[in-house]
Amino acid sequence: MQPGCRAPPPGQMDPSAPKPRAETARKDRWHPGERCLVPSPDNEKLCEASIKSITVDENGKSFAIVLYSDLQERKIPLTRLQEVKSVKDCPRNFIFDDEDLEKPYFPDRKFPSSAVAFKLSEDGDSIPYTINRYLRDYQREGAQFLYGHYIQGRGCILGDDMGLGKTVQMFLIVAPLSVLYNWKDELDTWGYFRVTVLHGNKKDNELIRVKQRKCEIALTTYETLRLCLDELNSLEWSAVIVDEAHRIKNPKARVTEVMKALKCNVRVGLTGTILQNNMKELWCVMDWAVPGLLGSRTHFKKQFSDPVEHGQRHTATKRELATGRKAMRRLAKKMSGWFLRRTKTLIKDQLPKKEDRMVYCSLTDFQKAVYQTVLETEDVTLILQSSHPCTCNSGRKRRNCCYKTNSRGETVKTLYLSYLTVLQKVANHVALLQSASTSKQQETLIKRICDQVFSRFPDFVQKSKDAAFETLSDPKYSGKMKVLQQLLNHCRKNRDKVLLFSFSTKLLDVLQQYCMASGLDYRRLDGSTKSEERIKIVKEFNSTQDVNICLVSTMAGGLGLNFVGANVVILFDPTWNPANDLQAIDRAYRIGQCRDVKVLRLISLGTVEEIMYLRQVYKQQLHCVVVGSENAKRYFEAVQGSKEHRGELFGIHNLFKLRSQGSCLTRDILEV
Ligand SMILES: [Zn+2]
Repeated sequence: MQPGCRAPPPGQMDPSAPKPRAETARKDRWHPGERCLVPSPDNEKLCEASIKSITVDENGKSFAIVLYSDLQERKIPLTRLQEVKSVKDCPRNFIFDDEDLEKPYFPDRKFPSSAVAFKLSEDGDSIPYTINRYLRDYQREGAQFLYGHYIQGRGCILGDDMGLGKTVQMFLIVAPLSVLYNWKDELDTWGYFRVTVLHGNKKDNELIRVKQRKCEIALTTYETLRLCLDELNSLEWSAVIVDEAHRIKNPKARVTEVMKALKCNVRVGLTGTILQNNMKELWCVMDWAVPGLLGSRTHFKKQFSDPVEHGQRHTATKRELATGRKAMRRLAKKMSGWFLRRTKTLIKDQLPKKEDRMVYCSLTDFQKAVYQTVLETEDVTLILQSSHPCTCNSGRKRRNCCYKTNSRGETVKTLYLSYLTVLQKVANHVALLQSASTSKQQETLIKRICDQVFSRFPDFVQKSKDAAFETLSDPKYSGKMKVLQQLLNHCRKNRDKVLLFSFSTKLLDVLQQYCMASGLDYRRLDGSTKSEERIKIVKEFNSTQDVNICLVSTMAGGLGLNFVGANVVILFDPTWNPANDLQAIDRAYRIGQCRDVKVLRLISLGTVEEIMYLRQVYKQQLHCVVVGSENAKRYFEAVQGSKEHRGELFGIHNLFKLRSQGSCLTRDILEV
């Protein structure tokens, strides 16, 4: 057995080992970090202590060095150690009351480290042993990093992968509402902090308490921060900690302005995905935490992002490659000391395996016909030709000249976005066209497009008039539904627990109908689920045998939620941003997961979804190279934002297209 592990339950014990005698509650194996009952140094009555180390003397007799709550140490023969019993079956005076136990205490968790304090500085600041014994080396390193910046009064970014337990390392906090209560829970678990939550109707009263300095940690949301910026600025904060700091990615966005306007020298950002779409985002987040570190935006683009992105092309010249690598090294040097990032490889030995698989789904004939009809509309032709030279020979592009709008006055840009949405819907499920769209502005336009498209399919229109929207879960309308049915049947036989993610709540409605009709006991979590309710759903899902599927909205999706009960993650539809999908996967693939995790991404063949997925790969490749300083494989010809290098990924011609025969684009690119 490895040091640091707890003894296995009696059923799994080495059969040759002597059986423990039940009446004395004695154990055979003890390990550093465990709690035990030992005679007290004052009166020899049993009291609780923790084992610091175990030694064997020259006669082969084993001793434990135990640490009492008053930090006294004593060497005690192992045979005198007794197991800690739960409070209820123990005489009161033998054990501390629950309230006296020093936090944190997880009866079921093993201690990765021994019970000694961790020194952060020479002046005596330290992480107490009660906390330190639960920390892993990389977490101590993280705490040291944050502490170092904190005492010097400056900001930094902790950019660890999700699921490494960043939450453990923190103090004063701005977080998305969806994880606000997780923070509160964690703070209550790890120590005795006076925490206040600034959110909702109680925020005014709480703000008064904060002003009276009646709390040590204030938790708030981005939204509340915006509303109460002036009041919060009238207080002196020693540090601000921003969870999901990649939200500060757009220099022009309101959230960035607000975060920059908050007065505080020590700005700490937490993010697993500092670069989601492009390198400008990385600049923006870093510039908030450590203003000026990476220079101005234009300087950064010229010196860093342009050379790096061009050097990542699959067909980059030797010179471009070299320039790119040089820029990357310079960037890494600039950021080192201010940006700390560790990846899951650190805890690989503590995590089970993860298998990530693409599931290519063919469109049904009906879907193909609808998809093709959309592509053949006049509007799409207008979009596709928009960058051609104008017919009037003005030398300008059509979209800047005589073809700015269609006959209804709708601009090419509006049409582009609406038709893209329509294609995404059809690629997932034709029935989605019958449902209301997300934005009001697009709704009318999309409805018109649908009416126009469906005039070619009168049968379908009649049927959807007769049937409620949800009953359209007939696989005929969605190739993915066909595949999903088979997958779920397989999972049921296998007793798998499934998290099923979709970007669209309408689609979740369809899937929910399907679960009901199939008699599956399911749970559902989306944007309308209240914070408290979320935690309850997760607990039920993880602990109940009968609940084998949970439908989750990718967007509202359980940020911060711990779905370790699940061993299969199905992503029904890809999003443009890889961080969304990664966050979904990380709900299940994280510390605490015991089973191997299977990730299945459903992608409709030949459609815009392949491009969406490939752009995710492009962005991740960039992330890898910039943040992870690894040499990622260069798959693509394209460069984001470069007109000369649209390649296979960018530009409208790649989006408005149905590849109906032959090979699979994704496979062609990724598996060469
Ligand atoms: Zn013209």
